[in-house]
Amino acid sequence: MTTPPRIALVTGGLGGIGRAICRQLAAQGAHVIAADLPADATRLAAFNDAMDGLHVETLTLDVGDAVSCAAAIADVEARHGRLDILVNAAGITRDSTLRKMSVEQWDDVLRVNLDSAFHLCRAAVEGMVARGFGRIVNISSVSGQTGNFGQTNYAAAKAGLHGFTMSLAREVAAKGVTVNSLSPGYVETPMTAAMPPEVLARTVATVPVGRVGQPDDIARGVVFLTADDAGYITGINLPINGGMLMGF
Ligand code: NAD
Repeated sequence: MTTPPRIALVTGGLGGIGRAICRQLAAQGAHVIAADLPADATRLAAFNDAMDGLHVETLTLDVGDAVSCAAAIADVEARHGRLDILVNAAGITRDSTLRKMSVEQWDDVLRVNLDSAFHLCRAAVEGMVARGFGRIVNISSVSGQTGNFGQTNYAAAKAGLHGFTMSLAREVAAKGVTVNSLSPGYVETPMTAAMPPEVLARTVATVPVGRVGQPDDIARGVVFLTADDAGYITGINLPINGGMLMGF
């Protein structure tokens, strides 16, 4: 008898890190659904090309909208019978020093990076608990661990994800559902593409591994945390940053 594939939903699935997560989970045999904002044909074609021939479904979703998040989870469960793996990877930055930050910049970043985890996890855990299996990974950031100039909004949201992760992990641990966060350091994606070269050089100089991270470096951690036999790993934050921030 063959085991049915795990069903995985990856938000921000069309993004730099998201698409690597989709590809690596699909390569492990999961049926993957990439959820993201509406995308034009060019972006979807580039996404499909990046999947190396693996089939990955796409789903349009604004993760900041509670009703749409509940509907997306219900849709996946109705079509596939369940949702086993949820990876919250959608994220945005709206950088500004606090003194110049607008309420809109604050609200947008908190809505997309933090409220989204609440909306999606709330909708997803019910079924996971009932079925006795679930894997949730919230993509946070080293900025949430150290703070970062111009990122009070982003660092607050990403640090908030850790508290959220640990609390939910405690609530569902006995039901076979793990909840972890993963904190990338600097990763080469569209989000970081606008970084001025001198700032990039300064950042790389702080990375003991001596290079910027690649999306696949992060996806490797997601595969690890979402494996069937990773059931004893819960409530942790997995930093993947090339040694940029070491601690214990
Ligand atoms: P990215 O911009 O390439 O991808 C982010 C994706 O999120 C995009 O596809 C975007 O369309 C999607 N998205 C934005 N708003 C959305 C919304 N409201 N609903 C649904 N989707 C939405 O960025 P990335 O670098 O791949 O970032 C992925 C995650 O990793 C983010 O959570 C980010 O904060 C985090 N992160 C990135 C870095 C880095 O250096 N790139 C470092 C630490 C953490």
